[in-house]
Order: sequence, then structure tokens, then C-alpha cells
Amino acid sequence: MSAAQRDPVDAAKHNLLLGELRLPTIRQLWAGLAAQADAEGWPAARLLSALVEHELAERERRRIARHLAEARLLPGKSLDNFDFAAVPKLSKAHVHAMAGGGEWLEQGANVLVFGPPGTGKSHLSSALGFALVEQGWRVLFTRTTELVQKLQLARRELSLEPALNKLDKYHLIVLDDLAYLSKDQAETSVLFELISARYERRSLLVTANQPFGAWDKLFPDPAMTVAAVDRLVHHATLFELNVESYRRRQAMEQKHGRGRPATYATSANTPSGANAVTPHDNQTDTADAPPGEHGAAQP
Ligand code: ADP
Ligand code: MG
Repeated sequence: MSAAQRDPVDAAKHNLLLGELRLPTIRQLWAGLAAQADAEGWPAARLLSALVEHELAERERRRIARHLAEARLLPGKSLDNFDFAAVPKLSKAHVHAMAGGGEWLEQGANVLVFGPPGTGKSHLSSALGFALVEQGWRVLFTRTTELVQKLQLARRELSLEPALNKLDKYHLIVLDDLAYLSKDQAETSVLFELISARYERRSLLVTANQPFGAWDKLFPDPAMTVAAVDRLVHHATLFELNVESYRRRQAMEQKHGRGRPATYATSANTPSGANAVTPHDNQTDTADAPPGEHGAAQP
């Protein structure tokens, strides 16, 4: 006979108290586990630790579910269904190492993902975010224009600083499609505020169709461009997806039958290496990568 059956009054009282203590999992499981403990002659300490472990595991599960919801990742994009063979210059091992989080997020290092449209920048970024959330990190995936609009609104309401502070809870913010921002000065200056506020504290992952060379159009003030790019690249890993559009390749394969070798860009038609794309000379850590080796700026 279980403890709950033996003493229904006590059972009801326990449930009330556990509810008040906000221990819903123990509340749900204690009667069953207590019965099992009685039947199998568990030591009391074993019952206690089983209950506490269940509560903690369930809390962690709910926490990750909450963080997954707030991250607003692209549905269905994971590292498991990212075809690394389609992007031969991207190191799978490097991406997987970064997907574990750790030091780079603690130090607020950045990731820059460049490549033409359709080459998997959003997929890769969202998948990386998904892996990080599963490891317990907090991530926000957003189109750059959307976040910039929100920050602009906050500034008009004189609450830009609190809005930026609120974003601090995210270890990583993915700014998808940086290059699609309009040239509006006000827009780019809130973006600059965001980049400055997070510099060396919290990470950004930026995707863009064009590397820094084209960013003088993004930040109309050249000094601001230099300062923003400086902060972004200072501690950054660069992933260049200079291949043909995955969508277009898939469409071509369907048209011509399977087995047609994909046309990959080579380093020869890569616009430039990490060193050459920086806006001025006295930087960067991105240049840690040996010449010609992309996507390896940071261990
Ligand atoms: P981008 O952001 O560079 O424009 P997307 O990430 O939106 O490209 O990719 C376009 C489509 O192709 C998406 O459906 C994406 O899942 C798919 N895709 C792109 N690259 C890959 C890849 N290497 N493996 C699997 N799917 C890919
Ligand atoms: Mg995209």
C-alpha cells in the first residue's frame, strides 16, 4: 500500500505544500515514487534524491523550452540537416566546436557569415543558435531590419538604453541580413549603439551578402563604419559561404537528374580573404587566420 493510499489526508496536505513551494514535478511524482520506495525498500535518502533530481531535470527542460521559444529561430533548421558537403570551405568541425558555446560566448566574441543569397547563411546561423540554446545559452535570432526598427522606436521613446540592456540577457544575437538595412542615418546609428554596447561583452552573429567592403553604404558616416566594423571584427570568426545558391543547385539537380556535380566557387573567385576585406589597416584579430584560410579566425 502506498503512502498516499495509507493516509489520504497527509497526501492532500503534501500536495498543497508542494504546490506552495512551487515543486510541481515532486508534487506529481512523489506518491508513485514513495510507493516504489516502500515496495523496494529504498533508503529514505534515495527517495529524496530521486524526487529532487526529477524536479531539477524538469525545470531545466522547461527553461530550455522557454529559451527556444524566445530565440525565434527558423523552424526546422539544424546542424544535422545542414549539408556541409555543399560548402566545402566551411569546416564542419569548427562549426560544431562553436555550437558547444563556451569561451567565445563568455568573451563576447562575434561570428560573421558572408555569402551570396541562398548559400545557407540563415540556415547555418539559426542551426548554430538552436544548438546553443540546447546547451543552455540564450539566443535571439532576428532580421536586422526588425531589431533596428524596435531600437529606433525605443530611442524615440527615450528608452534606447533600457532596450539595449534588456538585450543583454542574450548571450548571442543573430543579426540576419545586415546588408539589407536602408541607408538611413538614424537606423545605422542605433545599430552602432547595439554593436558598441555588446562589444567584448556579448556576442553578435552577423550575416551579410557582402563583406565589409560594401559597408560604407550601410553606415553613411565613414568614421562610424570604421568604428562599427572594428568592433565587429576585433574578436571574430569568419565563415564565408562562397558557393552557388543551394536553392538554385537543388533546382538544377532536379532538372538534370541527380549526380550532377555542384559548381563550387573556389578561393580564386572568392572576393577577398579576411585580411583584404577590412576597411583599414591597423586591425584585426580576424587576421589571426593564416592567409587563405577562411573561417578560422578564432579557436
Ligand atoms: P541565405 O540566408 O544565405 O540566403 P538560406 O539559409 O535561406 O540562405 O538557404 C536557402 C535554402 O536552402 C534554405 O531552405 C536552406 O535550408 C537551404 N540550404 C542552404 N544551404 C544549405 C545546406 N548547406 N544544407 C542544407 N540546406 C541548405
Ligand atoms: Mg538569409
